[in-house]
Amino acid sequence: MNFFKKYKQQIYFHLLLNLIVAFCITLSSYYHIPLSSFKDYSIYFIHFLLLQFSFFGILYFLSINKYVFYFGFSILFISLSLLGFYKYSLDLSVTKSMVEAIFETSLLVSVDLVSIPFLIYLFSVGLMLYFIFKKYKNVKVNQLKSPLIVLAVLGIATYYIIESKRHNTFDSRLPYVAFNSVVEFFEEDDLQLLPINSDVNTSVKDINFVFILGESVRADHLQLNGYNRETNPKLSKRENIISYSDLYTPLTHTVASVKQLLTNQSVDDIVKSNEVYSLFSVLNAAEYKTSWIGNSTIVKSYAPIIRSNQEVKLIDKFRSIMSFNKALDEDMLAPFDSILKICENQFITLHMTGSHWYYENRYSDEFRKYTPVTDSKHIPSLEPQQIINSYDNTLVYLDHFIDTVISSVEKTQTKSIVMYVSDHGEILGEEGKWLHAQESEFSKNPAMIVWYSDELLSAYPEAIKAVKENQHKRVSADFFYHSILDLFQVQNFDYDKNKSVFKEDYY
Ligand SMILES: [Zn+2]
Repeated sequence: MNFFKKYKQQIYFHLLLNLIVAFCITLSSYYHIPLSSFKDYSIYFIHFLLLQFSFFGILYFLSINKYVFYFGFSILFISLSLLGFYKYSLDLSVTKSMVEAIFETSLLVSVDLVSIPFLIYLFSVGLMLYFIFKKYKNVKVNQLKSPLIVLAVLGIATYYIIESKRHNTFDSRLPYVAFNSVVEFFEEDDLQLLPINSDVNTSVKDINFVFILGESVRADHLQLNGYNRETNPKLSKRENIISYSDLYTPLTHTVASVKQLLTNQSVDDIVKSNEVYSLFSVLNAAEYKTSWIGNSTIVKSYAPIIRSNQEVKLIDKFRSIMSFNKALDEDMLAPFDSILKICENQFITLHMTGSHWYYENRYSDEFRKYTPVTDSKHIPSLEPQQIINSYDNTLVYLDHFIDTVISSVEKTQTKSIVMYVSDHGEILGEEGKWLHAQESEFSKNPAMIVWYSDELLSAYPEAIKAVKENQHKRVSADFFYHSILDLFQVQNFDYDKNKSVFKEDYY
């Protein structure tokens, strides 16, 4: 009892401090997660408690020295609370792009920051800070010698234990995501793009190539490949469509697979080199106009490759794949249409958010063909069929998306090709696993769809004949880089024609 009396003020202060920090900062990362059952809520509540406990450890050490606390905590609390405000109101994820924008002070403009609710929030944060400091003065014990320090060490240990068991459990949420984004901002890019000789050329200067880079779409859920559901109602009615059934990649994580697809790196390379040729650099040298339109956050591992496009347009660089508000891929269609009209020898990439979990956020209501769908982010509490229904609905939406792109390209009446390739597949309950980026054969067969115009067929009949004939062969994801360079007949530059699906003897 004496013990409690002695440390009463200190315990009371830290409880209050953590309660305020939880409401302004940590809880915001949980606010938008769709959950349905009592069990879901309980699991995420425990998740939140552990995260808050780990942050308590940091706050405790900060509070040992009063000067460090007044200065350090003020900066931390105000900046993290502002990020909490974005998270609550707009579900914006903190990313390197956001840190960049803060440093460039463009954030104020781009997210329309100054509003009445924001000013009220800012005022409340100031009041709470004043209140915290007032209570802090009442803590009379030596915090360094208080037994509470053991709890603080335990809190920090919790962070390391949980992150080592499952990376990003805490790191993808506030406050940790903010610290990591700042670190990432100051880090150098690992990837070095090799320069291209100026004598690189091409004899084919009249192809309009539209590349749709997909996300998490597995080949066997396409109606075009014999799936028993109508996931391709539009494309299956089209002429000049080819669907590859046996594309293979062992790289089931976007970070690795996108980098490999867009460079000379092979899926078989055991040691992944960080000095690569970007496909876009080669195309630029061959006088193709390269443009990138993205609806997906740029990841550091392949950012320099994206930047090697002549034009880069991101739909919303502050919205990441982790956000729960809908960022539909259709948002890319208007910028795509305006770029498409410019010229003929061009290579346009559309980078989709595609079928990345959480599936319900990836398509609009009119494509909800299969029900019941998922109503919670907590996978174990869902019926497998709910998840598969939601996933298949994203494919019906994809079918519509690709069909719309083809319609636009068709109207140009140019020698055009639309090629869709997903970065990897997805596991849908096989072996008790879900999603991707974990070991399973089911995520290694991504979807690939090709459409060509009649004009292209007349001009390059042999290439089209080959791309049709190869559709059921086992094709390694290495094909992409080499096939494009082969189709464009790039000269004075080394690549492997044997890996081109536009050659009949593809092995
Ligand atoms: Zn991916």
